[in-house]
Amino acid sequence: MNASATFTRRTFLAGAATLAANASLRGEAAAAKKAQIVISLDLEMSRDYPRRGISEWDFDKGNLDDATKQYAVEAARRVRAHGGEIHFFCVARVLEQPDVAWLKRLAAEGHLLGNHTYDHVNVKAATPEEAQFRFQRAPWLVRGKTALEVIRENIRLASLAMQERLGVPIAGFRTPGGFGDGLTDRPDLQQLALDLGFTWVSSLYPPHERGAVGEPPTAAVIDSIVAAQKAAQPFAYPCGLVEVPMSPISDVTAFRSQRWKLSDFLTATRAAVGWAIDAGATFDFLAHPSCLVVEDPNFEAIELICRLVQASGDRAEFSTLDQLAQRARPALRAAPTP
Ligand SMILES: [Zn+2]
Repeated sequence: MNASATFTRRTFLAGAATLAANASLRGEAAAAKKAQIVISLDLEMSRDYPRRGISEWDFDKGNLDDATKQYAVEAARRVRAHGGEIHFFCVARVLEQPDVAWLKRLAAEGHLLGNHTYDHVNVKAATPEEAQFRFQRAPWLVRGKTALEVIRENIRLASLAMQERLGVPIAGFRTPGGFGDGLTDRPDLQQLALDLGFTWVSSLYPPHERGAVGEPPTAAVIDSIVAAQKAAQPFAYPCGLVEVPMSPISDVTAFRSQRWKLSDFLTATRAAVGWAIDAGATFDFLAHPSCLVVEDPNFEAIELICRLVQASGDRAEFSTLDQLAQRARPALRAAPTP
């Protein structure tokens, strides 16, 4: 962990200096016009799936069931068939399961696996008990620790487990839950991410209108989701950590919170991806196989995104959050000082 963290930071600084020298006027502007489309899936169980009323997953987010794992694997196969890869985020307690060969295969096939903490902790929790339901039921796990210590340890353990059990590079950090302002209000958490070896995080989910629960989205709701895409573009915090936001609307917001039908979710996704392609911007699809396996069993959302990328010709391409972070690195800040 330490060696790799050091390596990452050195590489980051060296790479950023080169970027500062080369990037500002050449290539970047032209390259930035091509929309960057990411499909990211968080590997965790979701409350109310596969049936309404199920909440035991709150204590056991990483204990993926077979249907969820199969959906993740088939989604990866489909995206690969279209020439892309999926950026997965792993709640690392899944690595306590007896068989993790499916995750190793995903990595071997070129899909990326990022850190989504060990237990799915809320990184902005004020107390250890607020960080995760598991710690309310089993408070001895976090006794005597501050919230920040619990959070740091939960992220560190996830990286450790991924390195030991999977032996794959850790592709970034996504906070459980999204925050409207990302980590803007928490320089201490930005520093924590840097300290743990990350050069980028995915923590920002911009606010947007949702409409009434149980109602299909109105034109105003779709417009609000499209408008929110502007707030979901990668940027760097002053400390140099890069933010690669999630792009609305997430599957759990659409299906679990708003009770949309699949056709509504497809409409919103089509509009949001269409905006990104027209604007030459980025789009980071955020979904959960544990939710989609119930709400979208035939992979229509993922197939739709793949078709939109392909139909765009040269105007869009598949990307990963790693690649988006690379493009958003702060060239100025890392320029060598005389
Ligand atoms: Zn999550």
